[in-house]
This record gives sequence, structure tokens and C-alpha cells, in this order.
Amino acid sequence: MNKIEHIGIAVKNLDEANIVYSKIFNQQPYKTESVESEHVSTSFFKVGQSKFELLEATNSESAIAKFIEKKGEGIHHIAFDVDDIYVEMERLKKEGFIILNENPKKGADNKLVCFVHPKSANGVLIELCQEIK
Ligand code: ZN
Repeated sequence: MNKIEHIGIAVKNLDEANIVYSKIFNQQPYKTESVESEHVSTSFFKVGQSKFELLEATNSESAIAKFIEKKGEGIHHIAFDVDDIYVEMERLKKEGFIILNENPKKGADNKLVCFVHPKSANGVLIELCQEIK
């Protein structure tokens, strides 16, 4: 794994959260994007080398909706950049980690992504992401 690619924050209302974080970071999000397969709307900020993703559920089936229902708004996942997501998925599976999806999915911001279940990672939802070139 190369570095933390971004931190994902679950929010109830993306427009309102964009205003809050635009003030915190003193800049607008560089991108907003809906990911149909995940039932989320997202926005991205770039703070120096770091990225920050805000996620709002677009319906009640969304993992974000379930997360907010259980835990409220807050840090939802930490994403790590990898060179080859297939290799990393295989490696972690062999180590006994629960990978939430069989194959990498097309995520936001031009990435292939997969998730490691928080149950097998001390309560942290870990996202692996690989830039689609
Ligand atoms: Zn993410």
C-alpha cells in the first residue's frame, strides 16, 4: 500500500457539508460525483497532498444511510492507494480478512475500489483504491 488516498466522511446533507468543509479548507470541492452502484453522492476536497471525501446516501439502501442510522455522521472509511488492487485483495483474503466485494468495483474519482470489513480490521472500514489509467 502506498499512502492514505483519502478519508471518507458520512454526512446527512452533502450541500450543507460542502459549505462547512469549504470554510474549513478555505476552498470549494474540486469534484462532485454520484456513484449509482453505491447509492451515494460524493464530493472531494484536496488539502495539500491529502484528499477528503464527503458521502451522502441517495436512498435508504445505501451503506451510508445504514451507517448514519447506527452511528451518526462522522468518519466512515479510510482509503489506501494500491498499485494493483487484485494482488492486494488476494493477499488480504489469504491473510483471512473479509473483503466486502468479490471483485473490485468502479468507485468515485476514477478508481477501482474494494472494502475490507471493519469486523476484521479493529472497527475501521478500509477501502483499497487503484487509479484507473
Ligand atoms: Zn472512499
